[in-house]
Amino acid sequence: MKKIIPAIIICILLLAACGNPTIGEGSPGDGPSIEQGVDDSENQNEDSIEKDPKSNIDLSYKPNESGKIMILMYHNIGDEEAEWVRTPANFRKDMDTLYEKGYRPISLADYVSGNITTEQGFTPVVLTFDDGNLNNFEYLENGQVNEESAVGLLIGFHEKHKDFPLEATFFLYGEHPFRQNSLIDEKLSFIVENGMDIGNHTKDHNGFKRAGLQEIQDQIGSEAQFLKNTLNKDGYEIDTLALPFGERPKDETLTKYLASGSSNGIPYENIAVLNVGWNPAYSPYDNKFDHASIPRIRASEVKVDHVGLYNYIDYFDKHPEEKFISDGVAEIITIPLDKKEFVHAAGDKEIYLYENH
Ligand SMILES: [Zn+2]
Repeated sequence: MKKIIPAIIICILLLAACGNPTIGEGSPGDGPSIEQGVDDSENQNEDSIEKDPKSNIDLSYKPNESGKIMILMYHNIGDEEAEWVRTPANFRKDMDTLYEKGYRPISLADYVSGNITTEQGFTPVVLTFDDGNLNNFEYLENGQVNEESAVGLLIGFHEKHKDFPLEATFFLYGEHPFRQNSLIDEKLSFIVENGMDIGNHTKDHNGFKRAGLQEIQDQIGSEAQFLKNTLNKDGYEIDTLALPFGERPKDETLTKYLASGSSNGIPYENIAVLNVGWNPAYSPYDNKFDHASIPRIRASEVKVDHVGLYNYIDYFDKHPEEKFISDGVAEIITIPLDKKEFVHAAGDKEIYLYENH
């Protein structure tokens, strides 16, 4: 037994020398204690100059990358608040509230691929707009973007708050997105060049409940081709789909064609298929995450049946342990030990478990 005591002391000294960031509460039990698959012994050779990226993670933020993420669904911006209309003032209120409560937009593609670069301690959120009405993106006669269209409001907010990234996906249907026909190309380019995204909302905006194989593939594939050809930007794929009315085919053998299929011999592949309601989405690292069925939350305060944006903001205020809190390091997935069972293997990313009690 006698030999063990000095060994423990050495261990403690080594831990203290590891330079882990300060832990909020400062109680001795709060330190990081478990790491998976890593040999973190500090070598005396030159290799030790290379800093372990985990040393940048401040556990006092209680990072939880197995937590839920809100994918918000907007439709129209307009003068009168309604079930599918948000006024500019209320939209600004939403952004202010999200900002103040530590939410930061990420792209849908980064969400589904788990490339989460959100600053540590903050919670990613995904913004989506359906239908591509004029109030989503309008050029005025003087050539300026209408500041009270969705695009104008997003840019305005981002300019005031540079740490609130300009990320949003506009789901478009038909051949007249944003309803100013001479400006379609310009608008699609503007969106992509400014870091936002264009998604597919099908050709005719019909529900898929009773649709057959051919119709599903044609509705998705032809719209993807139209948007891709109109945008005409090498390497930019139209590979996210928002289901009109959130309807999925009744015949479940057709469900897989929402994610992939082909139309006129040209294949399509959707990395994300979005539903209409009603819950926050799983972390992309959660076992239950399904890129072909991603729930959204209605960003509204009218007829939201207690499952709207503000209901979930309140919920996460009361249950912060259930929301995704970023560790700030994209290649590491930091998870409290008690959430361990929710997470699947994450490709080449390292899982970093820590005791959070
Ligand atoms: Zn729609």
